[in-house]
Amino acid sequence: MATKYLFFTGGVVSSVGKGVTAAATGLLLKERGFKVAVQKLDPYINVDPGTMSPYQHGEVYVLDDGAETDLDLGHYERFIDIRLSRVSNFTTGQVYAETISKERRGDYLGGTIQVIPHITNEIKRRIGLVEKETGAEIVILEVGGTVGDIESQPFLEALRQLRNEVGRENCLFIHVTWLPTIGATGEIKTKPTQHSVAALRSIGISPNVIIARADQDVDKGLCEKIALFCDVEKDSVIPMKTAEVLYEVPLLLEKMGVGELMLKKLGLKSTRKPNMRPWKKLVEEVRTQKPTVKVALVGKYVELQDAYMSVREALKHAALANHVEVEIEWVHSADLEKDKGWDAIKKADAVLVPGGFGSRGVEGKILAARYARENNVPYLGLCLGMQVMCVEFARNVLDLEDANSSEFDRGTEHPVIDLMLDQRAITDMGGTMRLGLYPCLLQKGTKAATAYGVPKVDERHRHRFEFNNSYRERFKEHGMVFSGLSPDGKLVEIVELANHPYMVASQFHPEFLSRSMKPHPLFVGLLKAAKEKAKK
Ligand code: GLN
Repeated sequence: MATKYLFFTGGVVSSVGKGVTAAATGLLLKERGFKVAVQKLDPYINVDPGTMSPYQHGEVYVLDDGAETDLDLGHYERFIDIRLSRVSNFTTGQVYAETISKERRGDYLGGTIQVIPHITNEIKRRIGLVEKETGAEIVILEVGGTVGDIESQPFLEALRQLRNEVGRENCLFIHVTWLPTIGATGEIKTKPTQHSVAALRSIGISPNVIIARADQDVDKGLCEKIALFCDVEKDSVIPMKTAEVLYEVPLLLEKMGVGELMLKKLGLKSTRKPNMRPWKKLVEEVRTQKPTVKVALVGKYVELQDAYMSVREALKHAALANHVEVEIEWVHSADLEKDKGWDAIKKADAVLVPGGFGSRGVEGKILAARYARENNVPYLGLCLGMQVMCVEFARNVLDLEDANSSEFDRGTEHPVIDLMLDQRAITDMGGTMRLGLYPCLLQKGTKAATAYGVPKVDERHRHRFEFNNSYRERFKEHGMVFSGLSPDGKLVEIVELANHPYMVASQFHPEFLSRSMKPHPLFVGLLKAAKEKAKK
């Protein structure tokens, strides 16, 4: 069977859930017995989002192989329950870097290098890698941004060419748009959708399916109007009202026949009936009234919750497993330094300190860790959240007053967190951290080992600094437990406090491997302890 392609493009505005829609569609196809792969094309010039501020781009999602990618890859992995690799995300930056290095090498000697065909060829080559690497029967490909952006043009042109090369019968263009509502009259407008389809058609692409997102119910008449004006079949305009519960999206798409529509249009026959029962159960569980636990999330990018997308999702997964509702209190760590925001911490049933870079707000995170330790508040630290827990412990338990991470104070007398040996000679910032999956052995009888229930785990990393082993003995003597270590025992992966209900922190990022139906043990442990605390 020829590989089939689903191309998702966005119209009107961004952030209407194109990634979630693509991911949920992937689930519907996987459920029908097809091997599905996913790829996100990002038109910005950065080589990857790794060097971008989370304010610009939301969280950087890390894969098994260490690729630093767009947060939509998290949606794909969580909905479809697959593990993606480096080929699943590329940017304009990567396309140009590759083409220019070939030009310097002399691969095109004599030629003039142009967007068509050189850049579009490189884009198509990278798209081809997905099928080659995964053997997928259906490749779901999402183009970042919105049609009409100057940067996405070469990508759309490449897709147009690809359609002719692999055959029109093997491709579907799915355009996800937004239907705004006029406040005064409550009227839903289709004109922006018409314009964005016109923009797409001006570069030679006619969408086969339009998914029309809206905050309101969209009636049949409106869908027929879109069909007429945008030249798509009537059954191919799918109205998609904003879902109350994220996990409802695949159920809504299924209810509207999207799974079958895709197969019909691609000329495919499913090999099995989709089983959506687990997702229905999940939505029911979300809707059930449950006691609430409050988690204070102490970060530096809290104004933009997308910066903590996977952490938020992992908390929700763990809440479901504990039959509680989780209410996240977003606390700006820099506020804590100015005596602000403490109410949220004091009311919280648990404190979570996520990852981060740079010194802004670090002292606030250290204060939050101290509060959790001294007041027996359940605490989970992720990456930087582990490092600040160790700095706090050194300062206030071991009385090493100026203890710090050398990331924040190069001259500290007590660098309890220090640059990893293999990071010392590195000067480039992009893609040079300790990235991706590494094994961790759990030490028997610890909270971490109990939470996981297995002796060895593999977790995803993204950091430059690590626990400084010259302090290990002193930490141990005072009640810090090193509950997870690299197999050679040299790298500290998980720490926890002996005399505390649940103060656990990892150097890796457990949030990237949490799934709605497979919640992450360390998060489940946190909310279990939070539930206990809330009861008291
Ligand atoms: N800045 C810290 C380091 O590089 C922590 C990184 C993180 O939290 N992802 O080690």
